[in-house]
Amino acid sequence: MRFMVTANVPTYGLKYKPYDEMENDAIKILRGFEGGKFLKVPQALDVDSFVEFYMNATIDYARLSQDGSILGLSTLAQTSVTVFSEDGSAQSRSYPENTILLDVDIYLHSSSARSRFTFMHECAHLHYHKNLAGAVQYCNKGNQRNRCEVQANCLAAALLMPEPMVHCAFDNELKGK
Ligand SMILES: [Zn+2]
Repeated sequence: MRFMVTANVPTYGLKYKPYDEMENDAIKILRGFEGGKFLKVPQALDVDSFVEFYMNATIDYARLSQDGSILGLSTLAQTSVTVFSEDGSAQSRSYPENTILLDVDIYLHSSSARSRFTFMHECAHLHYHKNLAGAVQYCNKGNQRNRCEVQANCLAAALLMPEPMVHCAFDNELKGK
């Protein structure tokens, strides 16, 4: 999968990663999860199990903004996050490192495919971006073109549709399996 990237987007000091390198990173990761079975036989990745047992992460839900602009976030260290109640009042809540926090409204009104992609996008931040200065990686509707977000999108796509599994699925289709 390829994402359009324009020049002069924020890089946050991150080194450029070629897409092929990220595809290979996904394959290495999936080799270490459940015996690599998601590379061998075309099937949907068990996202919940991957988050919990491979990433050692926890999923939680909260209202992350008043205008729905924050889709999700991941905590790269223990930290406090501002969340909102239904009446719009803000409160600070503490979350441990490795928490994937999704906006509850977006989650409730999204397809399962969208949620699965968001979970894997946040896993990609936990995998790639722990060396960033901040304790929280916010994923906003408006920042999807910065290097951090492009890397997370690319790794998420490669984890959900790794190249060997896609080739296998095509072969099976051609053979009428
Ligand atoms: Zn993100």
